[in-house]
Amino acid sequence: MSSRARVLVLNSALGPLDYRVPAGMAVEPGSVVIAPLGPRQLLGVVWEPERLPSDAEVGDNRLRPLLGTVDVPPLAAPLRRLVEWTADYYLAPPAAVVRMTLASTSALEGSRTATEYRATGIVPPRLTPQREQALERIGDRQGLIRELATAADVSDAVIRGLVKAGAIEAVEVAIDSPYPHPDPAFGPPQLAGEQQAAAATLVEGVAAHAFRPTLLDGVTGSGKTEVYFEAVAEAIRQGRQCLVLLPEIALTEPFLKRFHDRFGCEPVAWHSGLRSTQRRRAWRAIANGEALVTVGARSALFLPYRNLGLIVVDEAHETSFKQEEGVHYHARDVAVMRGKFEGCPVILASATPAIETRQQVALGRYAELKLPGRYGAAEMPTIEAIDLIQQPPERGRWLAPKLVTALEETLAKGEQSLLFLNRRGYAPLTLCRTCGHRFQCPNCTAWMVEHRLTRRLACHHCGHVLPTPRACPECKEEDSLVACGPGVERIADEVTALFPEAKTAVVTSDTIWSPAKAAEFVGRMEAGDIDIVVGTQLVTKGYHFPNLTLVGVVDADLGLEGGDLRAAERTFQQIRQVSGRAGRGAKPGHVFIQTHSPKAQVMQALVTGDADAFYEAETEARRDAGAPPFGRYAAIVVSSEEQACANEIARLVARSAPQVDGMAVYGPAPAPLAMLRGRHRYRLLVHARRALDVQDVIRDWLGALDWPAKARVTVDVDPYNFL
Ligand code: ADP
Ligand code: ZN
Repeated sequence: MSSRARVLVLNSALGPLDYRVPAGMAVEPGSVVIAPLGPRQLLGVVWEPERLPSDAEVGDNRLRPLLGTVDVPPLAAPLRRLVEWTADYYLAPPAAVVRMTLASTSALEGSRTATEYRATGIVPPRLTPQREQALERIGDRQGLIRELATAADVSDAVIRGLVKAGAIEAVEVAIDSPYPHPDPAFGPPQLAGEQQAAAATLVEGVAAHAFRPTLLDGVTGSGKTEVYFEAVAEAIRQGRQCLVLLPEIALTEPFLKRFHDRFGCEPVAWHSGLRSTQRRRAWRAIANGEALVTVGARSALFLPYRNLGLIVVDEAHETSFKQEEGVHYHARDVAVMRGKFEGCPVILASATPAIETRQQVALGRYAELKLPGRYGAAEMPTIEAIDLIQQPPERGRWLAPKLVTALEETLAKGEQSLLFLNRRGYAPLTLCRTCGHRFQCPNCTAWMVEHRLTRRLACHHCGHVLPTPRACPECKEEDSLVACGPGVERIADEVTALFPEAKTAVVTSDTIWSPAKAAEFVGRMEAGDIDIVVGTQLVTKGYHFPNLTLVGVVDADLGLEGGDLRAAERTFQQIRQVSGRAGRGAKPGHVFIQTHSPKAQVMQALVTGDADAFYEAETEARRDAGAPPFGRYAAIVVSSEEQACANEIARLVARSAPQVDGMAVYGPAPAPLAMLRGRHRYRLLVHARRALDVQDVIRDWLGALDWPAKARVTVDVDPYNFL
């Protein structure tokens, strides 16, 4: 006797497949198995057949047998429900979602040791620029050849060459050593009155073992982390697992440190920067329940926790929780669904909650806890707008006199300053003064951004780079290229010219590309080794530097460009967050916002601090427009290397749009990023009433269409990006 099993194999192009379970093999829903597919072997997960209809029923006698099971706990039912929900809601292949739960095949392999590589410090006799870059980027990193190559942005062959040359050596490492247990009694804080009340409610929620989404709405520096740590402590006491989601890997390092201060050891970290051996160790510990607290980026959400007792989404308003590749999901929203399936509380912590979240509170679906004041002696900073028309910077400069004076005073007091500009590199556009040639990316509708630190021009969309030339490629004129507009590097240059004695640091994803780099930055800030930080959104959140008292927003209007429906909200959140870095200790903070439109509602709200009025106006505008959270959008993007093909399929999609009450389809139109990574792109926007099951409509609509393989059609439900 043999039985059959329905299996989701890890191949997104395929639906579920049926296999024969050979005698002696035991499987149940959730079992991770090895399945044959043609000549290959693929991992898969056994599923309840009734929940996952197969469109090709195969007779028992024609079934191929499963090849084996993987020795890991089966994916639990709540996680299987989450996979189904995510696939359904975001119109993604279930196999693509299930792949996120298994995270890496190395996690499932049996071996307990691995060969990793690290630099020896020996400089190879032949030091090509690539080898130099590799060694510099690798630093004291250790990992598989592939991982080092990726980190260094070179080919595997370069790394192998370095091994041969003795500059990199192999090391055997043991994996799967157990994680230490966080101790809830290690370093509890003395909570202040409001903190205490909020913490007590959250602790009660954890003890109740029930789904309970809660918005923890507290101003920057109010102690949200300390407060939700009490809920984490309660979950640990109960032996249940916690997941803390952070929007950015760069924030992991400071978080680990704070966690250590509170609980006596570090939690398990999960992010894209892990080596495969670390990934395996973490995955296994999470799956067997031994990892009590996991902190991670959005991908940590789909891991197979054994008994989840609490989910925290920190900085829950952050748009980086929205995944823009592969399965397009929003980690904040999926976190709430996971809490629902697991039956555990979910805490969304933010100083500037998203309108979507505030609306859930208004509807009574989420509870709300408020921390209206900063902890201890710290006061909210003063905020002032600088009108760039009335008080412009000197010619060729970007900092207005008032801000320069404030920087000078802050330096004189021995305090730290932060200049915020959300633009990496030196200048966003380079052009030739002689012939007007502009450097555009050959693969994208985008300008090449000059990076002076690395002496190259780079496309921020596809990664295309070229060395900054001396002569114009068009007219061949030498030294005729000019940089237009500022990026952080240019601001840093201006600061150095103004204050040659000040110690400055540029903080962007170019300089802080690993948790170790972030830790180094934090260390230098704490040691007072930096006077002025010039940074992108990477420095707007999470950090706590008590001696940082001045924040200057170089171009507050930047985020308002482009007609994104969330532009004003995002600008408000971002500037509020970055302002929140000022004056977090005993010394008062000051914020200057440089803008061309100081009268704009969002600037006024920032200056007066009247968040409620701003949110109310924004919410009403959304309600009037039927925009989220009152209505729903889905973007359909058709792309192809051939423009005609993309255009034609986009038109086909539009022509085939069903007439549905409460749904409108706009487009197709060339996307603002009309070309991306060499593909031409057309967008359609579906706008639907909230109550409409728009996913169902789109599934039927696109499911009935055929298009050639050279065209790709992607659907983004609840899009955050309108490019
Ligand atoms: P938020 O996350 O709301 O911005 P944090 O949790 O980072 O605020 O708290 C701001 C600072 O105040 C941190 O250094 C934190 O350790 C400190 N803090 C907050 N509450 C307390 C408390 N009850 N006891 C001691 N320190 C606290
Ligand atoms: Zn490009």
